[in-house]
Parts: sequence; structure tokens; C-alpha cells
Amino acid sequence: MGEMDDEMNDVSDRTCWGFETRAVHTGQEPDAASGAVVTPITLSTTFAQEGVGIHKGFEYSRSGNPTRAALEACLASLENAAFGFAFASGLAAEDNIIRLLQQGDRILLGNDAYGGTFRLISKVWSPLGFPWSAVDLTDIDALATKWPADTRMVWLETPTNPLLTCVDIEAIATLAHSHGALVVVDNTFATPYLQQPLTLGADIVVHSATKYLGGHSDVVGGFVALNDPTLADRIRFTQNAAGAIPAPFDCYLVLRGVKTLAVRMDRHCSNARAIVDLLVGHPAVDRVLYPQLPDHPGHAAASRQMRDFGGMVSFTCRGGEAAALEVVKHTTIFTLAESLGAVESLIEHPGLMTHASAAGSPLQVPASLVRLSVGIESSADLVADLAQALDRV
Ligand SMILES: *Cc1c(COP(=O)(O)O)cnc(C)c1O
Repeated sequence: MGEMDDEMNDVSDRTCWGFETRAVHTGQEPDAASGAVVTPITLSTTFAQEGVGIHKGFEYSRSGNPTRAALEACLASLENAAFGFAFASGLAAEDNIIRLLQQGDRILLGNDAYGGTFRLISKVWSPLGFPWSAVDLTDIDALATKWPADTRMVWLETPTNPLLTCVDIEAIATLAHSHGALVVVDNTFATPYLQQPLTLGADIVVHSATKYLGGHSDVVGGFVALNDPTLADRIRFTQNAAGAIPAPFDCYLVLRGVKTLAVRMDRHCSNARAIVDLLVGHPAVDRVLYPQLPDHPGHAAASRQMRDFGGMVSFTCRGGEAAALEVVKHTTIFTLAESLGAVESLIEHPGLMTHASAAGSPLQVPASLVRLSVGIESSADLVADLAQALDRV
């Protein structure tokens, strides 16, 4: 064998496939019946049995569906997880994870988190007897000294929404595990292409597939990935028993999105860098929040655990809330809208939009804050669009 041959991957071993290959092919073999290259959307709610309990792995579509199974196999593989479960939304996925707890078990939530996660924990689960605290997950020493003894789950985002704070997953996992608590990482912002939390010691990964995984602002979905078989059995049970499953068509849309995840993320990241360069030098801008910036508090953790720094950029305006509201009103290509992670660029005011429910809480965000989801359009157009909006204030 020549030198070239030595370096070649053994493609017959599917577990050795690279990320991009698994995104396109894992769980998505050509259909056995027809040869269809694209995973069929199986709408059937029920599946024929040869004899009682003798079937091809599917009985009833809430319990299992071939299109959903393809998505689950693909996404689990991308997160380096043994098990994956798809849900109707990111919040449905989160809700199923919290159901692993017993009454009285405390959830530690990072003090900069998605507003809907905060609402689910504080308004739905807390009144049912599940205590929670908002904590600074970036200060490991302080957390270690004032660790609440009843903590059973640490819930973290990194980078966070909307301040893009980065949390050291490995350090939190070590601390939490020494106290017998599970670590859940919301990997929505980073995606498995940029960061793989299970490999860093996290127990459970959760996604809003509505964002980068779907990637085209046309499907709502959620996902849970994990390695522990006992926890997986319980998530599988709740997925079926509580029934917050995604429709087959929605599974198809997420699967279609995931095929291009790697190439989209590369462009999201490079476009975000162009936007950051503009913001850093602009007189209307006070602070630029992007983990690649050396003065960003999450820079060290992000550099260690992420492949690149992502497509989300936040900044505060020198002119306060009034200036922030002016900027978000005057962009042309950046659309004023909630959500994130799709091909088109979005701009929003977290204080009055995505994070309005956190007002008055420890998760409240600055009124001068603007959040950008940088899309995959021409970077020169995006820079020009944002520059003309900033020049007004
Ligand atoms: C959107 C989002 C969620 C919630 O997901 P849905 O699909 O909207 O239910 C959770 N976490 C993060 C970080 C999000 O951005």
C-alpha cells in the first residue's frame, strides 16, 4: 500500500465517517423498498404486523415512525450520542428532560438563559414542587462553595442567549458529578458542528431544532441526545407516554436541514466575523458580545471547547434603549423578528422581544441590547445594511 492508502479512511466502518458524511447519510440509507435516495416521509399512523407483536420495528406512529427514526439516528450520531429522541419543539424536549427529576430536586439554571427555558422552569415546574436557582455558571469557585445540596440538575447554555457568555462544560460537569447532579447542555447556539457537550462530560444535550438544525425558519422541533441507557429508557418512555412527538413532515424538514449544517455554519461564522469587525469600530456601539473577541469573558472557554464561534452576535448601543430600537427598525436585509439560526439574517431587541418574560428577574437583559442572528447572505450586503442603520443613531 502506498502512503496515500494509509491515510484513507475505512469507509466501510460507518462509525468512522466524518461529521459532514454522517450529516448526509447516517440513518438515511436509500429506501429498501423503492431505492429512493431521500428518506421517505412516512405518514402512516399504524404498521402491519405479521402476527401479534411481530413487525418491522414500528407499531404506532407516536411510539415510533421511520422518518423520525432516521432523524434520531442522524442527530444522535452528530452529537456522538448513543441515543437520540426527537420532539415537537425545543421546549417539549426540555419538558421531557425535567420529567427525569423527582419532586424536591433542584435545578440550577445559568443566569443568562433562553427566556422560554426560564419560563418553563420558573412558571410550570417550580409551582409543582421543583425548586430552582439562577446562578453564575462562569464562576466555578463561587458555585462550588455555595452549591445547594438538593441540586439534581444543572442546566446550561453555552454560548448563552442573548449575552453569548460561555460556560466551561468540562469544569461544570466535574463539579456537578461530584455532587450527584446531571448536566444538561442546551447546544442550540453552537450546534454539534461547533461543540459536542457529551464528549466534554455533559450527561444530556438538548436542542431547539427550530434554529440551526432546521436552518430555514420553516419547522419547529426539538431534540435530546444522551449516552446513559437508563436515562435513555426513561426519555423514550416519556416521549411515548406524554406524546410530544414531531410530525413526520417536520422530521423530514429537520433532516433536510441537517444535511447542510456544516457548510451553513462555516458561512454563519465567517459572516459573523465581518459583522463583528464593523461593530467593534462603530461609534454608536458600546460593547460587542462575541466569544471570539479576546476581551469577551467567554473567550477562553469558547476557544477550548468550540470549533468556531458561531453565527450569533449581540451588542449594546451607546444611545441606550432608544438607539437600540432605532437600529432594529432600520435594517433592510436583517429582518426584525424573533428566532435565530436560519439562512436569513435577523435582528431583534431581546429586552422587549425574546426575553420580555425575564424582566425583573435575575435573567433580565440590558435595554440597550441588540441581538443578531447572522445569516448566510453576502457578507458585504450584511455589513452595509447594519452600517447604515447604526449611522442613524
Ligand atoms: C428557541 C430556543 C429554545 C426553545 O425551542 P423551541 O423550538 O422554540 O421550543 C430553547 N433554547 C434555545 C437556546 C433556543 O434558542
